Order: sequence, then structure tokens, then C-alpha cells
Amino acid sequence: MREDQDLKPIKPIKPAKPWYKTSFRRHLLDMHIPDWHPDFLAKLDAERYVELLEQARVDTAMVYTGSCLGICYWPTPYGHMHDGLQGRDFIGEMTERCREKDINVILYYNFWSKWAYDTHPEWRFVSAKGEGTADYLWQPGRYGVCCLNSPYRDFLIRQVEDLVSRYDAQGVWIDMIHWPYSVCYCGYCRKRYLEESGQELPRRVDWHDPDWIRLQRARERWIAEFAEAITAAVKTIRPDMSVGHQCASWTVGWQNGLTNAFFRQTDYTSGDFYGDALFQSFTCKALYHLTENKPFEFMTSRSPDLTHHTTMKSPELLRAHAYAALSNHSAFLVIDAIDPAGTMDPSVYEAIGGVYRELEPYAPYFRPDAESCQDVAIYMNFESEIELADNGKSVMETQIEKSFMKNAMNAAKGLIEHHIPYGVITRKNLGELSRYQVLVLPNLAMMDEEEAEAIRQFVRAGGSLYASKGSSLIDKEGNRRTNFMLADVFGADAFSETGETVTYAAPVSEGDARFLRYSALTPLTLLGTQLKTEARPGSSVIAQLVLPYTRPDDASKCASAISNPPGKETGHPSIVENEYGAGKCLYAAGNLEAVDSGEHRAVFAGLIRSLAARPFSFEAEAPKSVELTLFHDADEERYLLHLLNFQKELPNIPVYRTPVKVRMNGRVPSGVKLASPQQPLTFTVDGDCIKFEVPKLETYALCVISYAK
Ligand SMILES: [Zn+2]
Repeated sequence: MREDQDLKPIKPIKPAKPWYKTSFRRHLLDMHIPDWHPDFLAKLDAERYVELLEQARVDTAMVYTGSCLGICYWPTPYGHMHDGLQGRDFIGEMTERCREKDINVILYYNFWSKWAYDTHPEWRFVSAKGEGTADYLWQPGRYGVCCLNSPYRDFLIRQVEDLVSRYDAQGVWIDMIHWPYSVCYCGYCRKRYLEESGQELPRRVDWHDPDWIRLQRARERWIAEFAEAITAAVKTIRPDMSVGHQCASWTVGWQNGLTNAFFRQTDYTSGDFYGDALFQSFTCKALYHLTENKPFEFMTSRSPDLTHHTTMKSPELLRAHAYAALSNHSAFLVIDAIDPAGTMDPSVYEAIGGVYRELEPYAPYFRPDAESCQDVAIYMNFESEIELADNGKSVMETQIEKSFMKNAMNAAKGLIEHHIPYGVITRKNLGELSRYQVLVLPNLAMMDEEEAEAIRQFVRAGGSLYASKGSSLIDKEGNRRTNFMLADVFGADAFSETGETVTYAAPVSEGDARFLRYSALTPLTLLGTQLKTEARPGSSVIAQLVLPYTRPDDASKCASAISNPPGKETGHPSIVENEYGAGKCLYAAGNLEAVDSGEHRAVFAGLIRSLAARPFSFEAEAPKSVELTLFHDADEERYLLHLLNFQKELPNIPVYRTPVKVRMNGRVPSGVKLASPQQPLTFTVDGDCIKFEVPKLETYALCVISYAK
């Protein structure tokens, strides 16, 4: 806290258990409301707000202290307070009323500030084209972002310090804390970069150019340091408060600049996401392993997305999102948006209450620290969230959606569809690789020596690896290696890439059931290039690289007018199987796991199955829309098996009599029951596994498997 204030800081009382350990039903009310109209927020009523939260059975309220507009909802000595409040301390009212109702309060603060952007043009983030964010971001004129290297940094920290000194809340949460989808070329960034590196800011993207990579690493470091400074400022004044940072933009990749160093600055991972069942599953798996403390927080809107002001998601969809969070032992936060007048729609709170009431019987099983049972880990690093096709482009022309994410998610889809327990891990989890049977590197472009060595040791010690295409070809300084860093593990050496963008993987052995109906005559199509590799002596080629009769880009001739049928053997492998130490590896020269077809996902799942040395943690015979997740709750001597039915079109068609099998790891099962409504299930024991049937699955079922001491 600064000396220019005479506020007395609230005396912190360190709670025995952080608030987030027992909070599952959370809420955020978006309030991005300007104050140019006298009606705006004129009807804002803290009492009514909290009444609706109570009706909706909310246990934690994230409350706007300001929005992306930078207009404050508390009497701040710094910056501008919302005119519609007429000096009222809205945050004071909210914290007091929530305390009366035993609802936790998290102070929401937004890094973006249109007010600061307009008031201090010299603080603005400046794009490669010399534009501000109000010029290039989405809807022109709306979004103002100042640079974290400008004096805005100190201004923001002063505001946050003021907030946490004034209000008795459980935590603070910083939204939009990432680079705004581009690189900043403001004078402050230029000066800092020159001081740190002795260089000017490069302007041309090239992931094979160490100069460009140096800037990217600086941007990653700067955003992480900024988050660290905010966290430290809060903890200095209020060590009892949690500090959360918006984590959602990890899916965007390099432009936004989040890395493991950033994630270490947030007490728990948390972010708002708008996507389908697969996206939620994948995101939850990543946040679960990225978080410093559990549970992490999955946020989504009650509307189809935030651009809808009045539309409501169906109760079935809201319920499916909430149960999907529960299935991943994540807290759930629902986002509503206030009307400019300051009112809330009561029917929204009836709908949220309907879902939250349904979740209450599961409270005894909300066990954030139970351990996930996952056999397959998709390994990713933030440095690989790039697009090599961007090389040579200017910053503003680069792709925001990353093919790496799409590929990794399709791999996850294959695992979900075939009921293979999976997780998503990063560098943070390098020391825990032995927890998994199989590691997947989905064309992981960049890798450092430490990662390569950890993966090598994992396989040598008996783990299995599936790696595709360019995995381990580029180091994190941007040097393209002449060969894979993991060539010894792959059992293959790289030397070039096909020019053909349609290629084939032709199984070598007719009896290889992993390739289903595909054979040398009808090889598996890959809609992309493959690397030309040579198999090393001792490894075996299980599929050959076959090319189309003609190059797809050859305008003079083709073998079929519409497709590019296979016709040319190359003598190069497409998939290599290699024993390495006590483990083994399958290396695919193309992105087999990325092809969006049920057949390819079935082949991928079969290949992964063939890499496992023992049964997976669970097996099930269920439709593809059903995802299973398993957690070991050691304190309560039980396993928690979640079944989530999340169909594309809702409401779900129920699934009846799902046979499941759970590996007990030497523990003797004593009973299994459905958690809500409670119902014992009959079971049999088969070796180390318990087998039973889940009678009916509409959206969600939780099976509690107890074992004897
Ligand atoms: Zn800057």
C-alpha cells in the first residue's frame, strides 16, 4: 500500500483451508458497461444481486470492480469511477451482503482499460502497424489495452493494492492478462528490449530465426513477470487472499505469450471457455495439470457466447458443462452479463439454480485433491503453439488458431471415443512421466534438451511413446536440427519432407489388426505431407510411405479428377516401431492422429492400445459421446468413476447398461454404488479389476468404488 493513503489495511486472517477447496458452484456477472448515459447502472442493486445468487445456490461470487473499459465500481483514488454509481461503494455493498449470506467474494479486475487508453495515449500497446487495440481488435473503437512495460503497470498495481486493502474478500482475479493477440512495438518495449538484448525489435516472424525467438522469449518472460508483480503486490498486503489470473488464452499460443512461468503466478488455473464437449475435456485436462493448487476453475457463459446479451443456453447444455467440470474435479463458474440499466434477469437465476441444486448431492465427492488415473498423456509445450507456415510473414498476418491445438485435440478425441484414460501435460509435469503408460507427442515442433532427455529416460525405463512428424526437430532457440533430437528413441532419422500434400500410410503386414480394414492395397489416407525418414537398423517398419500417382498440385495430369489415389511406393517408412531400453516407440512420419475421421481415430487408438504394457485404468463399452474419468480418493479409500454423456444435440438420448471395468491396483473392492440417487450396484472381480454395469446414463453418473483397508 502506498503512503499517500490513510486507509487501514484489513487485518488478514489466514483461513485453515483456502476457500476454493470447497467451492464448486461459482458465478461471475459481467459488467462491461460504460457511463455516458445517465440510465447506465442506475438500477444496480447489491441486495437484489445477492438475493439472486442465493436463489441460484451460488457459493462464490466473482464481483466486477471494474471492466475492460477501465471504469471503476469502487471509490478509487486512482482513475475514474462509474458515474451511474454516483459515488456509491458498490464493492463495499457487495462484500458485506455476500458475507452475510456466507458467499465467498472474489474481486474481479481487468487488465484492459479503455479509460487509461484514452486518458494516456502514451501508455498504449502499439501494433506492428503502429495501431492501438481500438483500431485492430475485433470491433473497432471498443477495446483499449495499455502496454505492461509502460507506466500503466504501476497504475494498475496501485489500483489493485487499493482494492485488496479496502475489502474483505477471499481473493482477487485478474482478467485479460495476456498480450493482446499481437506483439507490442511501443517505445517502452523497444527501450526495454534494447537494454536487455542490445537489439531492435524484429518485425518478421521466423521460427527458425534465433533473433525472432529471442523476442518471443522476452515477451513470455515479461508477461510472467508482470503477473508475478501483481501476485506479489496482493500477497504483501493480504497473504490470506488468493490471486487468480485469467489462463484461457493458453489456447491462443505465442501471440498471447502464456507459458509455465506465467501459470506459476496464479494460485489456481482458471479461464472462460466457449466450446464443445471435446474442447472442455481437453482444456480441463490441461488446466488440471497446470494448476499450482486444486481445484482449477472452468468458466463458461449462460449464453451461447458472450456476444449474446439475451439468449440463454439450454438447461441441458448448462448442465452438461457443469457435470463436465465435476467429471474433471474442476470448480464450475457460470458467467452472466448485466443489463446496462444494472438489472439481472431472474429467469437466468432460476435456470442456474436448477443446475446447481442438482449438483449439491455430489458435494461429498467434490474432492479436488483426489488423484487422476490417466494412462496416456498428451505432451505439449507452449513454445510449440506456433505455426511454421507463418515464417516470413509480418506479425499482423499470423494465424491465431493453431494447428497444433487442433491436432492435439483430435488425438484426445480418439482417446475419448475409445474410452482410453488420458491427460494433457506440460513441462511442469516432466518429473512425473512415470505415472503414465504412454506419452503422445502430436507433431510437437519445439523441444529443448531437458524435455528430450526426460522423454528418453521415460522410454528407457519402460514407458511407451507415440510421436508424429516433426516432433523434436526444432530446439527452443529456433535452430532446426538436422535430425530428430529423439531419433534414437524413434528408431528413425529424418532427412526431408514430401512435396505431396496428400500421402498414404500402407500397412506392411496383412495381419496387423491395428490398421483395421486398411492394407497395402487400400492404404490409410493422410491429408498432409509426411517426413521422408529412414528406419534405423533394429527398428521395424509397420507402414510404408506411399505417394499419389501425381502431385496434387500438378495441373497437367491426375489419376482421378476428384481425389489423389495412391500409386507410388517410396521405400520410406510411414510408421516405425522401435524397442528402446525397456520401453517402445511408434513414430509416425505424418499427422495420423490429426485426421478428423472416425476411422483414423480408431487406428490411432489401436496403436496407442498396442503401446500399453498393462490394462488401462478403466475400460467401457459405451457410445463415443460418453467420456469416462477416474480419480483415486486415497483419503476416503475409494475410486470415483465419472461417466459423462455429452452429445452434440441435446437433450441427450440416455445410454442404458454400460459395462465398465476399473483397475484396482492391488486393492480389494468392497462395494460400488451410484452417488446420486444412492444405489448399490452388483459387481464382479476379474483379476485386478472390478466389473459392473451402469444401469442408466442420461447426462452424468458417478460411481463410487470403495475398497477394503
Ligand atoms: Zn509495449
